Amino acid sequence: MPSTGLELTTLGHRIRHHRTSRGLTLDELGAQVGIAGSQLSLIENGKREPKLSLLQAIAEATGTEVADLISGEPPNRRAALEIELDRAQTSPVFRQLGITPVRVTKGMSDETIESILGLHHELHRREREAIATPEEARRANTELRLRMREQGNYLADIEALAEKQLKAAGHGTGALTHRTVSLMAEKLGFELLYVDDLPHSTRSVTDLEHGRIYLPPASIPGGHGLRSMALQAMAHRLLGHTPPTDYADFLQQRLEINYFAACALIPETAGVAFLQQAKKDRNLAVEDFRDAFGVTHEAAAMRMTNLMTEHLDMRLHFLRVDENGAITRVYENDDLPLPMDITGAVEGQPACRWFSARAAFEQRNRTTEYYQYTDTPSGTFWCSTQTGSTSAGGFSITVGVPFDDARWWRGRETTHRAHSTCPDESCCRRAPATITDRWQGKAWPSARVHTHMFSPLPRGAFPGVDDNEVYSFLDRHAGE
Ligand SMILES: [Zn+2]
Repeated sequence: MPSTGLELTTLGHRIRHHRTSRGLTLDELGAQVGIAGSQLSLIENGKREPKLSLLQAIAEATGTEVADLISGEPPNRRAALEIELDRAQTSPVFRQLGITPVRVTKGMSDETIESILGLHHELHRREREAIATPEEARRANTELRLRMREQGNYLADIEALAEKQLKAAGHGTGALTHRTVSLMAEKLGFELLYVDDLPHSTRSVTDLEHGRIYLPPASIPGGHGLRSMALQAMAHRLLGHTPPTDYADFLQQRLEINYFAACALIPETAGVAFLQQAKKDRNLAVEDFRDAFGVTHEAAAMRMTNLMTEHLDMRLHFLRVDENGAITRVYENDDLPLPMDITGAVEGQPACRWFSARAAFEQRNRTTEYYQYTDTPSGTFWCSTQTGSTSAGGFSITVGVPFDDARWWRGRETTHRAHSTCPDESCCRRAPATITDRWQGKAWPSARVHTHMFSPLPRGAFPGVDDNEVYSFLDRHAGE
């Protein structure tokens, strides 16, 4: 017997088809098979499951077979359309929208149903597109990195926008203060509020109606992380962002808000002047750049990649590597050989064991930068690496340049030198033959499963964010 809703719908349509082709009304057929017309109507609408004995009676009364009634095929084109619409309107994707389903009437034309079905098909297509697989996400991330590489990791429009905003807020020279960040927010019509109950999935929440940006409280008084978060929240407004349509769009927006925050923390004019002077003095150093503008080592290193190709005509690379050797953030336009997966993604791949980015973890004194020359199949690179740690473990930040440009940097006289043939596996990924022979077939390691670097774009308007949490949070605070 048919038991699912869908099969019952088809069965109902088949019964109706045979009844009407016999010219019988609901009441007439009902009388012949011994039930009320209203009961028969429920069966035809797929709302009630008929007993086998009743099906036999209906088959007999309409001159057909039970097997024909339960065949599962829509009896005609109209029924097929109605069945498909029923399926679309009971799908989770549609029900999530909270829209009342259309009730099909006899007078409704096939064209009307086809048009509604067209909308459902498009809705499903867009839904599939929005839920990017991790592989699609990595692809989008790689495309974005390559696009930025083409333009020297430099975005002139956002640089200019940040300079304008800083000027309007009265920022002079030196590190950007929390006070100036608040003034910038004020000019945009926002008040910065620090709360300790932000939804877990968010870094900040903006209340557009009341003009408030909610941020977490500073874990370290005077810590600088908050400026960046506030600037990023403002950047969404300044750059006119609308809810992202797909993962690539989401990544692009994230890049832009990060870029804006970086421009505000190290403005182009002041940053370039500083770097040009340091180059002239042959004393370029990430740590000096970092200290001059009061930003993290990572922010200073990344900012160098924005400004140095455009303004100092220097190609360079940036790596953030975890203590376990995985590359978590990367930029290069100096042809440093990097590991990549089939999609072209570098993030999550292991950095060469002999790279400065990993050798630095072995140093006894890790309070200052570690310098190293590394020979690679693409030439020799000079690198500067600083290690650090978070609650999630150790990491290293590296900035490096091709050999010829090492002369502008502090640490060029280092005697540390390494030789890498990566991505050749015999470089550092394969064990020496003697050990391999010894252990092959006699070892069984159990792999640790890594969480994906990029989770798929979840439903709802805000990627990675629980809408319900956010709206409840805003509700809680709106009355304050
Ligand atoms: Zn290697």
